[in-house]
Amino acid sequence: MSEVTEFSNDPTVYQALLESTQAIPWKIDWASMTFAYIGPQIEPLLGWSRESWRSVEDWALRMHPDDRERVVNFCVTQSQAGVDHEADYRALTRDNGYVWIRDVVHVVRNDQGEVQALIGFMFDISERKKTEERLLALQGELEALSFKDGLTNIANRRRFNASLELEWANARRDQQPLSLLMIDIDFFKQYNDLYGHLRGDQCLVDIAQTLNLALDGPRDLAARFGGEEFVILLPGADADMAWNVAQRCQRLIQKQAITHALSPHDRRLTVSIGVGTITPDEQANPSGFADSIDQQLYAAKNNGRNRIERMQLQA
Ligand code: GH3
Ligand code: MG
Ligand code: MG
Repeated sequence: MSEVTEFSNDPTVYQALLESTQAIPWKIDWASMTFAYIGPQIEPLLGWSRESWRSVEDWALRMHPDDRERVVNFCVTQSQAGVDHEADYRALTRDNGYVWIRDVVHVVRNDQGEVQALIGFMFDISERKKTEERLLALQGELEALSFKDGLTNIANRRRFNASLELEWANARRDQQPLSLLMIDIDFFKQYNDLYGHLRGDQCLVDIAQTLNLALDGPRDLAARFGGEEFVILLPGADADMAWNVAQRCQRLIQKQAITHALSPHDRRLTVSIGVGTITPDEQANPSGFADSIDQQLYAAKNNGRNRIERMQLQA
């Protein structure tokens, strides 16, 4: 009986074993850069006959053009350095499709330490790649969802906070103005009491869409801050531009003419708006800025609602 470390001394056993695995074995002779061997499993996987794999050129050409340069350069460099390696790429099938392959490569050296051959296995990893792609797509969807308000479909508070941080930093760096509007629906509790919560919800959706219409800058953002409160962030907008946007919001909502029988303003649903503009310096911070606009909103409420109040301009 042979030792337990010896699998077999019959080469045909190894051959049978190699050719019965899912992975496709291959060998490349280093001096001639030609295939000395490739497993018969290659044909059912890619459609190319076993005999058609002659040189490394065949291998490189049967690779997706977007993968070729990266993979070939990487494999050549690693092989020359005598380092075992692996690479993922899309292999071309005979009917012009692609199969994701992971090629795992071992560098064989002779007694003098010179590279003699490359041997390896190709693994079909298309299922894994499909799962990875599905996961990535799902991750993207989740990320988008986490920044969206579930009811109105516009940006949520989280998104607003992130944008405010970012735009604050931009405005401070470029010494550009940044404007913010805080918008609160007037007498909304009464609206709910009178028309029910579902009509109240629909009203929030309609107002959100209207506010979105009032924007025109590519980085302008309307978000639901919470409850029946909304915010609009206007990067690069000075006080006059912000004032105009606030007026446009009011006008558009007025045009929408949502009936609110208990409203003293023409029995229509109205909003109060606080507005402010800042060119951030070292002393200022985003939450202080937001607070001072909230005070303007408060003033708009106290001064009768359905109106806009703005922060005193900076000296
Ligand atoms: P004011 O003019 O001072 O703003 O009065 P108000 O009634 O609008 O303000 P208050 O903050 O007292 O009430 C806000 C109401 O908004 C209370 C709550 O029922 C309603 N609300 C908040 N979130 C939602 C929502 O998601 N859906 C509906 N339908 N109503 C909401
Ligand atoms: Mg409120
Ligand atoms: Mg309100």
